[in-house]
Amino acid sequence: MNRRVALATTGLGLLGLHRLLAEGDAGAGPVVVLKLDDVTVRSAKGSVNARWQKVCEYLEQEDLRAGCGIICNSLEYDNPDYVAWIKGIAERGKIEFWFHGWDHAVHEVDGEKFNEFSHRTYEDQKERFEKSIRLAREKLGITLTCFGPGGGVGTPSYDAVTARVMGEVPEMTAWLYPMPIEKIGAELAKGGRVTILDRVWAANIEKSVGVPDLAKLEAGLAANPKRPYFVLQGHPAMWDDARFDEFKRICDFLRAKKCRFEQPTACAKWVAAGAR
Ligand SMILES: [Zn+2]
Repeated sequence: MNRRVALATTGLGLLGLHRLLAEGDAGAGPVVVLKLDDVTVRSAKGSVNARWQKVCEYLEQEDLRAGCGIICNSLEYDNPDYVAWIKGIAERGKIEFWFHGWDHAVHEVDGEKFNEFSHRTYEDQKERFEKSIRLAREKLGITLTCFGPGGGVGTPSYDAVTARVMGEVPEMTAWLYPMPIEKIGAELAKGGRVTILDRVWAANIEKSVGVPDLAKLEAGLAANPKRPYFVLQGHPAMWDDARFDEFKRICDFLRAKKCRFEQPTACAKWVAAGAR
């Protein structure tokens, strides 16, 4: 999809783009949304993954806004340490928790494998949203407003049914789209209630799943100088000390570029406002 079409379909027409670029400091970098995937636990006891703790502590200490995606069936364990950890972070307000699926599991239809939100009925997909939102409210006291589907078996990780559900679930206003926007996302965005934050493949914090790489990000941003925002995906549970250090170098680089770190839903609101 070419750039003009991509902008038009996000609802971010050229006028909106110019307005967004004109905002803020001269020389400021783009808005960046750290999309950190796979917050979960798999038992009722035990502390939260130490790598996750480290990353979130770092983001809070450095005053960097970000978004962390919860796999919501983890809330069924009633793990007190896990619940307290999420609640504490959510209350301090720097990090948004978003909906990264119910089980993030690959399923099979006629012997073929699909991602969680692909090739499932409307009722099934809708229930995954609704029970996740309900559990997050009950256990964490937070309302999930942003969705990002989980992958596992390549693309796609959503389908037209997912878009229909996104258009109907009233809490959902932002979609961390797993790819550059296309027809399904564009149709949903036209409704005006859900804002699609799409991806630029070239610009990311990981060069392959779980491997942060500053050089890739630098090259990706340099190749897209006019883009007002970037969704940058990472998987903190896969970051050992060396990878975490690379992530910190990435954050330093983005700060030096005067990028504004934003939470997903807040970025979606900003994009929607710019498009009006
Ligand atoms: Zn994931």
